[in-house]
Amino acid sequence: MNYDYDLLVIGAGSGGLSASKRAAHYGAKVAIAEQDLVGGTCVIRGCVPKKLLVYASHFHDLYQDAVGYGWDAVISHCDWSKLITAKDREIERLNHLHMHWLKEAGVALFSERAVLCDAHTAQIGEHLVTAEKILLAVGGEAVRPDIVGMEHTLTSREMFDLPHLPKRLAVLGAGYIAVEFACIMQGLGSQVTLIVRGDHILRGFDEDLRAMLRDNMIARGINIRFISQLEAIVPKTDGFHLTLDNMEMNVESVIVDQVLCAIGRVPLLAGLGLEKAGVKIVNNAIKVDDYSRTSQPHIFAVGDCTDRVNLTPVAVAEGRAFADTEFGHSPTRISHELIATAVFSQPELATVGLTEAQAHTRYPGDILCYRSRFRPLYHTLTGRPDKVLIKLLVQRSTDRILGAHMCGEHAAEIIQALAISIKMGATKKDFDATMALHPTLAEEFVTMRTPVSG
Ligand code: NDP
Repeated sequence: MNYDYDLLVIGAGSGGLSASKRAAHYGAKVAIAEQDLVGGTCVIRGCVPKKLLVYASHFHDLYQDAVGYGWDAVISHCDWSKLITAKDREIERLNHLHMHWLKEAGVALFSERAVLCDAHTAQIGEHLVTAEKILLAVGGEAVRPDIVGMEHTLTSREMFDLPHLPKRLAVLGAGYIAVEFACIMQGLGSQVTLIVRGDHILRGFDEDLRAMLRDNMIARGINIRFISQLEAIVPKTDGFHLTLDNMEMNVESVIVDQVLCAIGRVPLLAGLGLEKAGVKIVNNAIKVDDYSRTSQPHIFAVGDCTDRVNLTPVAVAEGRAFADTEFGHSPTRISHELIATAVFSQPELATVGLTEAQAHTRYPGDILCYRSRFRPLYHTLTGRPDKVLIKLLVQRSTDRILGAHMCGEHAAEIIQALAISIKMGATKKDFDATMALHPTLAEEFVTMRTPVSG
């Protein structure tokens, strides 16, 4: 049978873009369909604009720190609309750049929603498009709570386009998005209340880092309400009245101007026609094998819609591996082990490998933990009490580094560089043999000699 394309990709986000360009590079005739702007969540309304807002939120501290270094005090505030306009300009530039790269690669772009009609055909706007292989890279969407007044909540998507900086902001959740936005908005001048259903933030991260970041966020003035359920949101003339139940039968009211809901994301699969194409969903995500193949052998899926590790670089790697396997004659599997990740909070938190608790569970009695908590040189003149925390988890019997964790300035940049050596199987001896680069924060990773436990 003759198809219009060798490959149809649905979704021009991180996974879809990487796969389509790589497949075209191997000579495949490729089309990509996107109902929104080319670039996807990461570029348009996720990692990239978020990081720009993170940078913007740092200036408040920098102006204060400067005084300790002899600069005159600066009294300033952030003009939210100027910031958003500048951010939009950059996102538009990136959107055009991605479209240019698609064109350069010879990938046909359909700027419309695609819906599968059968296992080889998609309805894209008014076109019926057939393809020998199909890649689903449709991403995810934010979950909203089932509570009274839910329609008044914002998700991270709308946060990037708010007309004004909210004076008072409530953030529901304690994961990546909730913690990052709480820090961003507090840094930009909002009064932030973080509503957490459990007794801690950032489940899954190393306990010491979670505790340090929590204490730091509280010290910076973020009002964290632990063990609190948001019961209702009622709009009144003076703002949204939130009813919080703190589980000890105490019901309290918090008044804010906006409510951000960041309680997780789910694959964006509704109305995609998966049943017509014979693609199975398990636990609300597209089920795939190690080669990203769905239950339909010529249909594949990558990125957040498969709910494996929902991070941009993982989607990119999965997309490229798919193209290498299917069009490059080079079967490639992605390892989902040892993926570095960061929370762009203030201060940053970054991590690669096992947490201390995971290391002890996986290798009982065989773990050495090295930890250093110190005041960075930078803050000796700023007067701020901020500390840095770093940790290494080492397997005693093999000397292999199993995990590296950091909470402090530049943590993400430092852990990214360390992740290479850890992926290569570095041992504590390798770290010890590395001469320190002095004076830096990262040098502590190669100077710790005495384990704190093990
Ligand atoms: P996460 O899955 O990270 O966190 C969800 C949070 O919401 C948890 O704290 C959870 O609490 C809480 N929660 C869940 N349901 C409820 C509820 N009904 N009421 C109150 N709280 C609730 O989701 P995010 O939305 O923060 O992020 C989505 C994904 O986006 C992440 O998985 C990540 O992969 C990606 N991301 C990555 C970033 C990065 O790399 N820097 C930045 C932003 C997003 P509990 O712990 O009790 O379950």
